[in-house]
Amino acid sequence: MIIVSVTGSSMRDALRQIASSRRFADAFEFRLDLIEKPEAKTLLAAASLPAVTTCRPVWEGGKFRGTEHEREKILSDALAAGSAFLDLELDASPLMRSRLMALAGRERIILSHHLFTSVPADVRSVYARLHQSGAGIVKFAFAADDSADARAAMDFLAMAKKDHRKAIALALGEAGEFTRVVYRKFGGWATYAAPETGPAAAPGQVPASQLRNVYRCEKVTAATRVFGVVGNPIRQSKGVFIHNELFRRARMNAVYCRFQVKDFDAFMKKVAPLLAGFSVTIPHKATVLSYLGSIDARAKAIGAVNTVVRRGKSLWGCNTDAPGALDAIEKIRRVRGRTLLMIGAGGAARAIAFEAKRRGATVMIANRTEEKAAVLAKDLDLRHVPMKDLPEVSFDVLVNATSAGMIPRTDEIPVPPGILDGKVVFDAVYNPPVTRLLAEAKRRRAKVIRGTEMYLNQAAAQSRLFTGRNPNGALMKRLLENQFH
Ligand code: NAP
Repeated sequence: MIIVSVTGSSMRDALRQIASSRRFADAFEFRLDLIEKPEAKTLLAAASLPAVTTCRPVWEGGKFRGTEHEREKILSDALAAGSAFLDLELDASPLMRSRLMALAGRERIILSHHLFTSVPADVRSVYARLHQSGAGIVKFAFAADDSADARAAMDFLAMAKKDHRKAIALALGEAGEFTRVVYRKFGGWATYAAPETGPAAAPGQVPASQLRNVYRCEKVTAATRVFGVVGNPIRQSKGVFIHNELFRRARMNAVYCRFQVKDFDAFMKKVAPLLAGFSVTIPHKATVLSYLGSIDARAKAIGAVNTVVRRGKSLWGCNTDAPGALDAIEKIRRVRGRTLLMIGAGGAARAIAFEAKRRGATVMIANRTEEKAAVLAKDLDLRHVPMKDLPEVSFDVLVNATSAGMIPRTDEIPVPPGILDGKVVFDAVYNPPVTRLLAEAKRRRAKVIRGTEMYLNQAAAQSRLFTGRNPNGALMKRLLENQFH
């Protein structure tokens, strides 16, 4: 059940949120503490869906500043007006709680507990307190700073499942986004979504349209295989818009989520065991190697893995970035026997330089921090050139594998434009799809290759590994383009 939180702040805004979100919602939550001069009757009439009424006090993270007596009146009025459920806090006045429970009946009470500072060490005791209350539905929401913390939501749902108790458990914040998507796999009764317009009620809430159309979270079952992308930051990642649609086309019972991960070790211990496979992005592509049971030879030689799949009890990793970039370049120009000038000395530069050399190119490395270029050149047995010497260097293909030009610093360019005349220029940066480097190169009659080409190639290879099928390239391109409009 997708419950859209209606947050106001005025009645006009609240009604607009209801109208724009109704087709994606199974139910609404009216946050009467956030709506100025709320009229429960009007909201309920406009919703024409089951409603949860909440009047969250300041001491539980809400905005209601009145007495418990006033709160009780507001909530009992909402009940009389037809609210299907009331949300009460575990720490609300016991008298108010028992009176409203008697009035509504236990089955219509969602007893909730919120923690905004940290995940409790003992989730079991939080669950036990909620369970003992006798409320029909128990809800636990807590702030998660890392995906591993969010695992507590699954543990909470597992406890409730054993007791056949309806439960909601959500981790707040970006790191908890996946708990809002996969809740059904672990027996969760409902998820909360942001309205299509106006503010979310809680950090990390995903709009209901996205839960339904991108994640198809209403189709998730205990058997659904969970995939995702692991990185930090992760908000900008486009993979969810591609892999979920490819799963749908492949008729695969699977979902792909974003996992914001700072502590990779904790992620591997607490979250990875729940996953069937995952993409790895900055900054974990090198760290992941030591956690894998087996590694493809190319990824091992590069020292970076961007794709992990479960094979039996063990995890296997490979690198789809390196062939993804070279396939994009070689669509325009074969690299064998040619000179490739690589700008950058990070993970992408290492992967692309390795593969270019393997395919017969002579590779030279230049980087803002020269020592790093020297180290990479030494590792891969390549030449390194100082940035100041670039105007004198002779080359055929230029590769930008730095972050220069990437959103938000779109006016940056990693090399003097004068060296681009008539060359082949590939920019690994894909956001924006046309960087300043590519625009300058085109003006100078260079052949240009966008970073989106590499992105699509590496994602297609991942999709083959996740689904066992060849993905539709044109569809993938369209899905990615949609993300830049
Ligand atoms: P990384 O390991 O953090 O390396 C970053 C590189 O960029 C370093 O060489 C760094 O130089 C350089 N750099 C950063 N800011 C710069 C600036 N303002 N001017 C000049 N150089 C700068 O990152 P990565 O994983 O290699 O990724 C590099 C780029 O490739 C990113 O833009 C990423 O989005 C892109 N990428 C694209 C795809 C794709 O599918 N298209 C896949 C992977 C990566 P210093 O050593 O001096 O710090």
